[in-house]
Amino acid sequence: MNRRQLLRRAAATIPVLTLGGHRAWAAEADSLELISEDHATAKALGYVHDAAASPKRVTDEQKTQFCDNCIHYVAKAPAGPEPEDGRGTCALLPNYLVTAKGWCTVWVVKPPA
Ligand code: SF4
Repeated sequence: MNRRQLLRRAAATIPVLTLGGHRAWAAEADSLELISEDHATAKALGYVHDAAASPKRVTDEQKTQFCDNCIHYVAKAPAGPEPEDGRGTCALLPNYLVTAKGWCTVWVVKPPA
């Protein structure tokens, strides 16, 4: 196989791998449960399902912070009118889901797409 053939084969393989990875993630996310606010790591981070209900979220800046605009969040379902409508994964709380309108004390702004 020459260099050109190798590059063509690599270019054809990348989308398949990406799609496969996404499907694997989606299937994995479907099997995850919403984390309990009483989970030891969630408690250590001050995580709550409903950001508006957190007594630790007091500044005007903090009041604009939600899991769905945090760098650590990957959406699984879009946010809706209820605080627990949207779900996603958080890199700091592996193997569980968090709510889109949740929040914790280590929130970091998600860079613009
Ligand atoms: S790190 Fe971000 S996504 Fe994870 S719980 Fe905290 S605010 Fe939500």
